[in-house]
Amino acid sequence: MKTIGLIGGMSWESSGAYYTLVNREVRERLGGSHSASCVMVSFDFQEIEDLQYAGDWEALRERMVEAGRRLAAGGADFAVLCTNTMHKVMEGFEAAAGLPFLHIVDAAGEALRADGLKRVGLLGTKFTMEGGFYADRLRERFGLEVLVPEAEDRAAVNDVIYGELVRGVIREESRARYSAVVDGLVDRGARGIVLGCTEIGLLIREHPRVPLYDTTVLHAKAAVKRALE
Ligand code: GLU
Repeated sequence: MKTIGLIGGMSWESSGAYYTLVNREVRERLGGSHSASCVMVSFDFQEIEDLQYAGDWEALRERMVEAGRRLAAGGADFAVLCTNTMHKVMEGFEAAAGLPFLHIVDAAGEALRADGLKRVGLLGTKFTMEGGFYADRLRERFGLEVLVPEAEDRAAVNDVIYGELVRGVIREESRARYSAVVDGLVDRGARGIVLGCTEIGLLIREHPRVPLYDTTVLHAKAAVKRALE
């Protein structure tokens, strides 16, 4: 089995889910007392969030590369970045860190393609919904049309992530707000919803009108698949 390198702490609420998911998936695939071989570098998320809001993506890129180097030194065979947003700065990571990289959008895109989807809605931080890097990859590599919520809804989705989910706060009111945002995307033609933030699955897991694609689950499963190849 290959060793999975997890870059986590963004936030640790979802890194915990990753850790559970990769171990459970290995046990399901191999049986017995098997569990995942993995190492994790975990950030203090306040520092990351401050740099994001300050727009200092160059500093963030350096932190991710440094984390990759630490994972490589710790015996990782490839890296998994446990956040969608920070994929914004991962171009060139493999060469800089000396470690192969398993991109979260590819894990999601494979699942969407397997289900034959053409038009999907995307939920995530404002950086993910508005940055282009995420939707562009879904479009270019997987031929998907990607819808994002309207401005007011994007702000609400983003505020719940940073104000509640990364702090371990789960509110019924926010669940209802997210559900309404999903309804809006379905009304505009989305036939699947990408939960493009690794904490959203802590708030909503299903919707009566449309399948939800939880990137945390899909990414963790893709990591185990690669580890066992
Ligand atoms: N975990 C979140 C994501 O998947 C948001 C936190 C972050 O900005 O990294 O995008």
